[in-house]
Amino acid sequence: MRQRISETLDFLYPRYCEVCGRPADRPGRHFCSDCLNRLPFTPTDGCCRRCGRAAEKLDGEFLCTDCQTYRPAFDRAASALQFDGDAREAVNAFKFRSRLWLRNDLVDWMEAVVRARFKVGEIDVIVAMPSTFWHRLDRGYNQCAYLARALAKRLGKPYEPFVLRRKGNPRKQGRLTEEERRTNVSGTFGVLRPRVIVGQTVMVVDDIMTTGSTLSECAAELKRFGAAKVWCVTLAHSLRS
Ligand SMILES: [Zn+2]
Ligand SMILES: [Zn+2]
Repeated sequence: MRQRISETLDFLYPRYCEVCGRPADRPGRHFCSDCLNRLPFTPTDGCCRRCGRAAEKLDGEFLCTDCQTYRPAFDRAASALQFDGDAREAVNAFKFRSRLWLRNDLVDWMEAVVRARFKVGEIDVIVAMPSTFWHRLDRGYNQCAYLARALAKRLGKPYEPFVLRRKGNPRKQGRLTEEERRTNVSGTFGVLRPRVIVGQTVMVVDDIMTTGSTLSECAAELKRFGAAKVWCVTLAHSLRS
């Protein structure tokens, strides 16, 4: 229903570029070609094979020092963009200000990074990072589920809703230090429908990766319930401080 509403809005209102405000020059999209070309997309080469972060002056794949130290539970992760400048604005507009009509643009970018960085044929099922009850109450939707469903459709893969749930309400991650973030998430997730993930390569869709600790926790729980591999794709990852 929500999807149909956003498509109707698309049809009724002329489309303007989300960044510069000029008319968008591509059908069904809300970023003009100029602004699109300036967005900070992550490179597809020279990235950590585990967390997907790029490093300057390195080619091919490597294991970054963070992944060597913290050993995230997911097998592979990649982000479409760096969470910076206009990309940060776009992701926040979608996440916090209900600009759901940006979905086609955002899913374009996620689809591109998945095709570049993962073996799409090996993905068995796509799930979304669950939002907390309070977030859903606040925003009225789970932005990750919205992205995950659309991405699954593009990739021709099954999307399974309500596979994961968040237990309780961990303290807001945004205000914590990096070390606190890593401990704050433990015991956060539960698996509601283990049958759909047992023995499967599961792709988790999330919006922003910061330290990766939330995704790692989520992946650990999926594996505890029998997932064979956990791959993560996010819209954006924050820059390292
Ligand atoms: Zn523009
Ligand atoms: Zn890494």
